[in-house]
Amino acid sequence: MLNSALAVWLEQHAEALNAGEADVSLALLQQLGQADVFRQGVPEQFGGLGNTLKDAIETIAEVADYSVTAAFVSWSQRTYIEYLLTAKADTLDEFRFDELLAGKYAGATGLSNAMKFLSGLEPLQIHAEAVDGGWKLNGELPWVTNFHPDGFSVAIATDSAQGPLLFLVPSHRSGFDRRPNLDLIALKGSSTAAAILTDVIVSQTELLSDDATQYLPVIRPAFLGLQCALSIGLIKRSLQQVIAKKHSNVVNDQVAYIQQQLEKNLTALFAGLESGQFVIQARCLFEIRIALSELTQHAIQLELCSTGGKCYLTPYEDGFTRRLKESAFIPIVTPSVLQLKTELSRLSA
Ligand SMILES: Cc1cc2nc3c(=O)[nH]c(=O)nc-3n(C[C@H](O)[C@H](O)[C@H](O)COP(=O)(O)OP(=O)(O)OC[C@H]3O[C@@H](n4cnc5c(N)ncnc54)[C@H](O)[C@@H]3O)c2cc1C
Repeated sequence: MLNSALAVWLEQHAEALNAGEADVSLALLQQLGQADVFRQGVPEQFGGLGNTLKDAIETIAEVADYSVTAAFVSWSQRTYIEYLLTAKADTLDEFRFDELLAGKYAGATGLSNAMKFLSGLEPLQIHAEAVDGGWKLNGELPWVTNFHPDGFSVAIATDSAQGPLLFLVPSHRSGFDRRPNLDLIALKGSSTAAAILTDVIVSQTELLSDDATQYLPVIRPAFLGLQCALSIGLIKRSLQQVIAKKHSNVVNDQVAYIQQQLEKNLTALFAGLESGQFVIQARCLFEIRIALSELTQHAIQLELCSTGGKCYLTPYEDGFTRRLKESAFIPIVTPSVLQLKTELSRLSA
């Protein structure tokens, strides 16, 4: 269950977060941290709640019920934490792990480029050159969320003479230029911006993986599973909006259909994450991500159609406009629905 103080705060500030109001956007990470959102699915010996990744997904889904801006920031932070747990468990202090769990320091994941690289869609956009004791990085990150103005660390992929590498790069390093927030149509409080890296030096400890093509499929189930939380929360909220009113059988049938499909996909998602099957059988995970994206579009359309003209009247729309724009993010976040469908058709061929 989501902490009730956080639920109240999110309900009050969902529109301000979407619009990117500065004070609220700055406070978001700490609000999430105080409610233990980032401790979900983290073992107790590392300061977590000792529950599972399923709990982390369900918690972020509950956040998405109120605000996808907050849920996407939660995804960034929790996914970054997952990178540390899988690859850097013996050096967590060096990465300010306690502050990450508390939401006092931001962790960002700039691995869209890497995920697209893994699927053969685009080359890596940062180059790493070996130097004494570490590497020198040059290149650009075009979009990354949770670039908190007070500072952050970001996971990135680079090419290099020894192949694709992954690094964790702190933003205070000389040569790291965080650009102004991007002018998004929604989710403006997510601190999403580009960065240009010019001769940024990173150490051996900051190497997350020296074999990105091996590491990425291993981390992908958590990366994608946590991302599915955005869809889950949005679907549940739109259905809740519909169920709150009396409707014809046609609407009720559609509600029942979406609920049943959601349940089916969640069962498959949680079973696959628990068994570890998605590491070698990514196909089923891709199908779930696509199905949840399509159900999100179905649910928001049902909210619109069943509410009718009121959704078009500002005094009565009850968050619909925000949810419509939030839902537009679901199919395009990497790996996008188009990308996954292309991969599935390749696998079938
Ligand atoms: C609000 C917001 C926050 C974001 N936050 C982050 C973040 O935290 N970290 C991060 O790394 N990225 C982030 N991104 C970037 C995002 O995940 C995408 O990488 C970005 O939208 C640009 O990539 P694209 O795939 O849409 O663009 P394009 O490469 O122009 O592709 C357009 C569409 O075609 C598909 N496509 C491209 N090439 C092929 C092909 N050969 N075969 C099949 N399909 C193809 C793409 O998947 C996409 O659907 C964010 C984006 C937004 C909008």
